[in-house]
Amino acid sequence: MQQRKRTGMTVSSLPDTIVPDPAFRRQVRDLNGEKVTACFQCEKCTNGCPVAFSMDIVPHKVMRSVILGLRDQVLKSETIWVCASCETCTTRCPNGIDIAHVMDTLRQISLREGKTAQDNAPVFHSAFLSSVRGRGRVAETEMVARYTLKSQGLGGLLKQAGMGLAMFKRGKIKILPRFHSVSQVKKIFRGAEQKG
Ligand code: SF4
Ligand code: SF4
Repeated sequence: MQQRKRTGMTVSSLPDTIVPDPAFRRQVRDLNGEKVTACFQCEKCTNGCPVAFSMDIVPHKVMRSVILGLRDQVLKSETIWVCASCETCTTRCPNGIDIAHVMDTLRQISLREGKTAQDNAPVFHSAFLSSVRGRGRVAETEMVARYTLKSQGLGGLLKQAGMGLAMFKRGKIKILPRFHSVSQVKKIFRGAEQKG
């Protein structure tokens, strides 16, 4: 019988043999400078994570998996896309590991290496970042429209349009995007791109 998701990696997803891959650990460290090896598995990150219940590998196990070099398990996990970047784990870690930053790095590597298990995750990621880059903040209506068009085509967009209109009439969403510190946000994006 499979373990419940909340407990971490399912038994069936565990490899028969664990072959440490220090290259993966180094790759993560080189990209973000975080000392993941300092993790002593206290589980404070997982216990504070508001979305751990819906993760397939809970945060402290992600840290352990990075140390062990379980590249595919981590990069193909749902966890890295479920993570809401709320930084609760980061503030709770007694070893000062910025776990949210590590999760972000894992998303980047997963995208670059084409490992993501969720077909639409890169599309969502791209729609989200385009919105933030162009407006300085997430413009929900524009982002959802862009995402729906790319993931479900024009038919999907038209289907969603009815619901969008109803929500607009009730004042739940705004059609026109709001802007916030666009030039500063663009500068941050350029800096991140230059770092590679
Ligand atoms: S940043 Fe991600 S992993 Fe950390 S607590 Fe928030 S949702 Fe959980
Ligand atoms: S809170 Fe920090 S030290 Fe504790 S398990 Fe999480 S990453 Fe490791």
